[in-house]
Amino acid sequence: MYCTNCGLQIPENTQFCSNCDQKRIAAGVSSTNNYLFNIQKSKDKYDAYEDAKAFTYAMVGIIIIIVIVFTFLASGLLEFFLN
Ligand SMILES: [Zn+2]
Repeated sequence: MYCTNCGLQIPENTQFCSNCDQKRIAAGVSSTNNYLFNIQKSKDKYDAYEDAKAFTYAMVGIIIIIVIVFTFLASGLLEFFLN
């Protein structure tokens, strides 16, 4: 089985991890559960990465909209003053 904290492979039915002294190791935790746990962790990382990407796209979109609006406003003001 694997330590639920650090992922180190430890003997079956071990209560304490020799690497991190993790005391919450359950006897029933199998390598499959650890595998799913790691998948969930990497999925969380992926979600955070996707959130950051979505945020970046949103910011770029907002900046582009602001630039377009200001361009229209500036050209409108320019025409106002030129006329
Ligand atoms: Zn450990």
